Amino acid sequence: MTSMTRRRLLGAAAALPFAGRAFAQDLPLTPACGPQAALTPRQTEGPYYTPDTPQRASLVEPGSKADRLTLTGRVVSPQCRPVVKALVDVWHCDENGAYDNAGFRYRGHLFTDAEGRFRLETVFPALYPGRARHIHVKVQAPGRRVLTTQLYFPGDARDFLWRPELTVAMERRTQARLAAFQFIVDA
Ligand code: FE
Repeated sequence: MTSMTRRRLLGAAAALPFAGRAFAQDLPLTPACGPQAALTPRQTEGPYYTPDTPQRASLVEPGSKADRLTLTGRVVSPQCRPVVKALVDVWHCDENGAYDNAGFRYRGHLFTDAEGRFRLETVFPALYPGRARHIHVKVQAPGRRVLTTQLYFPGDARDFLWRPELTVAMERRTQARLAAFQFIVDA
């Protein structure tokens, strides 16, 4: 990863209100754009995607005591150009490992800003039997093909779908977790 890319990614993390200097310095890097860039790998959608999710920046349910997770990052081209107004559609299981297949708990989408950044507040999904802990994501640059994939967390049990290049950079502050990931898409 180039220092420029690193600064950009860390810049996204620095936008977090409670992310100080230590967080930015400690944050490991996720896959880099640039001359050797590989596109973010596609993965199976799984059985639990629901279309037409609400647009929102927080999936936290009112009154929820579940551990919080802030997922932040960027969507960029392989040449490191930020992808503006990219769709980022997220779904994951709750703190007990259950998906809401009737409504939209822990489902929602947002769009990247003028620098290709996004930031979503949610809860830390449970690790449920048979899978590595994961978050499902669809990312779509305007007018381009949808990238369906999954993100993983460092330090957890792995499974047959787990891939290192889909692992977020993460730091934990007491009950709050901060995660960052850079999507590299054709744009
Ligand atoms: Fe899943």
